Amino acid sequence: MTDLARYSRQTLFAPIGLQGQRRLAAARVGLVGCGALGSVVAGHLVRAGVGFLRLADRDYLELNNLQRQMLYTEADVERRLPKAVAAAEHLRAINSEVVVEPLVADLNPFSVVDFAEDLDLVVDGTDNFAARFLINDLAVARGIPWVYGGVIGASGMTMTVVPGDGPCLRCVFPEMPPPGSAPTCDTAGVLNTAVAVVGSLEANEVYKLVADPEARNRDLLTVDLWDLRFEAVHIARDPECPACGQRRFPFLEAVEEFAATSLCGRNAVQVVPPPELVWISVRWESGWRPWARCAGTRSCSRSSWRGPLSPSFPTAGR
Ligand SMILES: [Zn+2]
Repeated sequence: MTDLARYSRQTLFAPIGLQGQRRLAAARVGLVGCGALGSVVAGHLVRAGVGFLRLADRDYLELNNLQRQMLYTEADVERRLPKAVAAAEHLRAINSEVVVEPLVADLNPFSVVDFAEDLDLVVDGTDNFAARFLINDLAVARGIPWVYGGVIGASGMTMTVVPGDGPCLRCVFPEMPPPGSAPTCDTAGVLNTAVAVVGSLEANEVYKLVADPEARNRDLLTVDLWDLRFEAVHIARDPECPACGQRRFPFLEAVEEFAATSLCGRNAVQVVPPPELVWISVRWESGWRPWARCAGTRSCSRSSWRGPLSPSFPTAGR
């Protein structure tokens, strides 16, 4: 039984109130990436009393993560824990009422479907556009709201996508930036203050989507903490958008090869599955379902597939 008293300073805020708090307690949220932005988002959501939080991240902690990945400690680094596991430990200690489900895995075009199957909304804690285009494809195809956020240096941006009501990410960025064309936090650095601001904005959008949907962000919001500029750019839905306009979802359907991306940190979130374990899925009328897995090397051979069917499309999972 939830003790609403612990959220009293939040329920006193009228747009949330007791009704909004109960909605938060019933909400099922997925967070892709438990690094810098993910740490902030998860910490806020768990303290605020979101009922269920599923975390996906395959990385292990490194010392240079601690400057901006605020959930973690030196002890976590010394224990060489996966971020998702360490995050779940800390989050449960913060609020034992929240069901936290860690997943030490990359999201790929197959696993992302199961990841999001029973979720109300998804939050972006990743650091690369390949993952975001995959999330956007899934969200638009399935009608799941999601919150995009990104940071670099002292600046960042966020946008809230509600399929069928306003633009999606590909209305703003029709094509994925070529690998190496955009700065990353490996090349341009990132301040923890920018992470905290953008992560807080993302978590705040979750509160609104759950408790007061009309209040949600309808712009592409950019922030620059060094020059102290906040700008809301109105983006119209593009009827020609490949995703929400033409309803083509190549990232979800793995028609396009995922480009190698320069990630923020050596073990950052990737959408390319690890070579030692690749799931293959089959699309039934009800959607993509796991079917077999490759336990071989990156060049999966037919004999390395484990499942009731030898797939004829091993390139789908690389
Ligand atoms: Zn769109």
